[in-house]
This record gives sequence, C-alpha cells and structure tokens, in this order.
Amino acid sequence: MTAAGHFKRVALIGFGLIGGSIARAAKLQGLASEIITTARSEATRARVAELGIVDSVVATNAEAVEGADLVILCIPVGACGAVAQEIAPYLKAGAIISDVGSVKGSIVKDMAPHLPANVHFVPAHPVAGTEHSGPDSGFAELFINRWCILTPPEGTDVSATERLRAFWAAMGAKVEIMTPDHHDLVLAITSHLPHLIAYTIVGTADELGQVTSSEVIKFSAGGFRDFTRIAASDPTMWRDVFLANKEAVLEMLGTFNEDLSKLTRAIRRGDGEALFDHFTRTRAIRRGIVEIGQDSAAPDFGRPHLPLKKQ
Ligand code: NAP
Repeated sequence: MTAAGHFKRVALIGFGLIGGSIARAAKLQGLASEIITTARSEATRARVAELGIVDSVVATNAEAVEGADLVILCIPVGACGAVAQEIAPYLKAGAIISDVGSVKGSIVKDMAPHLPANVHFVPAHPVAGTEHSGPDSGFAELFINRWCILTPPEGTDVSATERLRAFWAAMGAKVEIMTPDHHDLVLAITSHLPHLIAYTIVGTADELGQVTSSEVIKFSAGGFRDFTRIAASDPTMWRDVFLANKEAVLEMLGTFNEDLSKLTRAIRRGDGEALFDHFTRTRAIRRGIVEIGQDSAAPDFGRPHLPLKKQ
C-alpha cells in the first residue's frame, strides 16, 4: 500500500532551500517512487548528485517533467512564467503542476496561460523558510507544523487539490486553501512588510555616520540582531516578491506609515500612555503566536546562554 499523498514520479524544478527540503521530506516519508530534479547551474547539479537524495538530476526542465505526476517549481517567483512556458509541451496529461512561490497572484497570472487544459494547476506556498539558500540548506523537518497555503484557481479539480494537500500534510505541514489575492494580502503584512522593515533598519544602521559599523555589530543583541537574520534572506527571492506583490505591499506600507507616524507623535509629545497601550497590545499578539505553536515560548528564541563561571 502506498502512503497518503504518494506520487509515482515527482519532478522538482530547482533544488534550493525549498526544493531540497521537499526532496528530503518526501524521500523520508516515502511520498514518491521516483524524484527527479533539475537545477540551472552545473555546480548545483553536481552538488545535488553528490548529496544522493533524489533519484536523478537532469540538465533540462523538459526532461525532468516528462512522465511526472507531480511537478513543483521551486525557483524564484519571477522565473516561474518562463519555466511554465518551457515545460508546457512536455507535461503528462493529468499531472498536477504546482510551485512554492511566496506570492500567488502573479504566479497564477504568469503560469496559468501557458499550461495545457489537461493538467491540474494547484499553486502552493509553504510558509516556512530560513535565511539560507542553495542545495545544502534544505532539511526534511522544515515544514513540520508550518502552514502550506494552496491557492487553486476557480474550477480546479477538487481531487487534485486534495492529493496535493495530502502530499504537504505528509511532510508535516498544516494546509489551508484561500484565493491568490487573499494570500497576497495576508502575506504582505505577515511576511513581506517585516522583511522590508528589516532590510530598511539594517541598511539604515549601516549608513549611520555617528555610530560605527563595528559598534552596530558589537552591540547587535539589543533587538537589531533579529532583524539582521531576516535581512540576510536571499536578494533574488525578495526582489521578486516585492515586484510581484507590489499592490498589497504598498497598501500595507501605507497603513504601517500611518501607525509609525502615530508612535512618532506619541514619542515627540511624551505620551507614555499611548506608547504603553500600544506595546501592551503587541505583546498579546506575541503570546498568541506562541500559544498556537508557531514559535517557542523560550526566552530570546531559545538561544543558549552560557552559565556564569565563579570568579
Ligand atoms: P534558493 O535556495 O535560492 O533556490 C532556488 C533554486 O532555483 C536553485 O535551484 C536555482 O538554481 C534555481 N533558479 C534560480 N533562478 C532560476 C531561473 N531563472 N530559472 C530556473 N531555475 C532557477 O531559493 P528558495 O529559498 O528555495 O526559494 C525558491 C522559491 O521558494 C521562491 O519562489 C520563494 O519565493 C519560495 N519560498 C522561499 C522561502 C524561504 O524562506 N526561502 C519560503 C517559502 C517559499 P541554481 O542553484 O542553479 O542557480
């Protein structure tokens, strides 16, 4: 008997953090009889072959998707349209075509027109990641207890969506279905805006004249350090996210700027009550995130603290 969410042949286009994590998790859970992958560069292909996780790594996307029952594009958002066009003539009838892009509206707009009518297009976004990229960065546990949002376009075959749901669930993810536009609005505030703020703060600190770069690095534990982790995320991926989710990000940025002005005013006027009320509300949000198991309750994100040695 095959496991729930099992596919005979899975093709992963791209073997970076997300593609590599899917390969590792799917292998471990027996979700594919065969996994075939492709990567753009010779260096990545050589490394993937060396890792020995997938059954084969090939040079062309066309070769990878031929005969595949599930094809997942694990590449930057901006590259998905061209790759969909490239693979379209080679797709097996009845195959499920998916992706992992962090933006969904643009993916549907860029990919759907190229795909033949006899395949099922079910876009997906695993809301899980790290600041690392490349073939060595993936790990099988990445999706455990994390959300994976599926955004099937209207009219998508329900059983295809359910098969993909089972695939992600077997890798440990919690699956939710929503429209591409709603996904983009939600992620604009929960993921895209925080990244933009981190990129801004780290850039601003770097440009400060009165505080030296070495001081910024030396005293980074005071909150700045956590921004630097986010601001170390892949530049290609995040460039594409902001270009592809422009409208929703600009909308959220407008609201953010208004709230920042309110806090600026409270500081200028010495309005401690307004500041206290705001910080109390945000503290409750953090508690809520911990309560639903989306982060650890351990202080300082569970970072180890060395014991104080007796003098
Ligand atoms: P990654 O580690 O940088 O891997 C990207 C992969 O895509 C590599 O195999 C790369 O091949 C390939 N690639 C790059 N440009 C390409 C192109 N123009 N055509 C074909 N292949 C190309 O990236 P990742 O973090 O796995 O991200 C992949 C996707 O996952 C993105 O759409 C991103 O939005 C989404 N995502 C990322 C995260 C996260 O936290 N990182 C979380 C959720 C979703 P080479 O190595 O040969 O260049």
